[in-house]
Amino acid sequence: MPVRVLFSAPASDWTLYEPHLARACAARGLDVVLSPDADDPAAVDYVVYSPKGGLEDFGAFTRLKAVLSLWAGVERIASNPTLRVPLARMVDAGLTEGMCDYVAGHVLRYHLGLDDHLARQDGVWRGDAVPPLARERTVAVLGQGALGRAAAETLAALGFRTIGWSRTPKPPHPRIDGRSADDGLAATLAEAEILVLLLPATPATENLLDADRLARLPRRACIVNPGRGTLIDDAALLAALDAGEVAHATLDVFREEPLPPDHPYWHHPRVTVTPHIAAETRPSTASEVVAENIARVEAGRPLLHEVDRALGY
Ligand code: NAP
Repeated sequence: MPVRVLFSAPASDWTLYEPHLARACAARGLDVVLSPDADDPAAVDYVVYSPKGGLEDFGAFTRLKAVLSLWAGVERIASNPTLRVPLARMVDAGLTEGMCDYVAGHVLRYHLGLDDHLARQDGVWRGDAVPPLARERTVAVLGQGALGRAAAETLAALGFRTIGWSRTPKPPHPRIDGRSADDGLAATLAEAEILVLLLPATPATENLLDADRLARLPRRACIVNPGRGTLIDDAALLAALDAGEVAHATLDVFREEPLPPDHPYWHHPRVTVTPHIAAETRPSTASEVVAENIARVEAGRPLLHEVDRALGY
């Protein structure tokens, strides 16, 4: 009997993914029926899931074996009470590469003071505005998972003094100063001239960067947030930006997306808004991850990248 896979995502994604998924499943000898429609939910074995597919109630999917998220961030599904089967999040080489590019680009932009040069093409020769070397600049990356660790490695390879902070301790890394929640966050923040947020949205990370923690950053620190909007207390960040305590923030993710046109972030001179484009799941590589997970479950093996529903990531 074929394995039935529902692709629950926007129609435009189905067009992009279908050939890659079909190929990746066939390469693993899987006999699958892929469909973007759930005509008979009780016959579905796997759901490939995007929050934009609109599926909220898994109650009718009585034969479901696993849900395979196309997104790395799973906050919209991890706490869904109707979901009673294992959930895998997306770890995808394309997603990781894109995030490394985004983080490296914006960190270098801050490090080199590029915005100042762009804003001041005014005929004044400011020859004393020499940036320090990367090794003289400390960047802290909060979150050392698939994306945070790769971003920290990219920054360390560029020469930055790189701190990587996560919930649990990690094995020593030759170029990343690893810290964990056991060490607290205060000392890490105090050193972070540039702070990169790559934590998931969970109850434990909500408003992690509040007024108290913002006040611990070095004066004129810069923030890059491609993690999730809920990590930052927005009012506290706006106040810190207005006071000049935080020099600039580049924000890719927000509590409400799309960011409403009248939101103060759009108009703030010390904020760059990017529209949740830091990293995108790539159909060719992500389809391999989805097919691999279907093959693993069919063979009675554990899922790759299974979400801990209690932790929410
Ligand atoms: P991941 O592999 O699950 O890693 C999450 C990291 O956060 C882990 O290092 C984890 O610590 C740490 N963490 C979680 N809760 C914590 C807490 N309370 N205190 C301290 N550290 C905590 O996730 P990922 O693949 O790296 O992705 C990170 C996030 O990036 C996603 O959740 C998503 O929100 C965001 N994202 C954004 C985009 C975009 O385009 N903007 C694209 C993809 C993903 P442990 O290692 O100790 O568990």
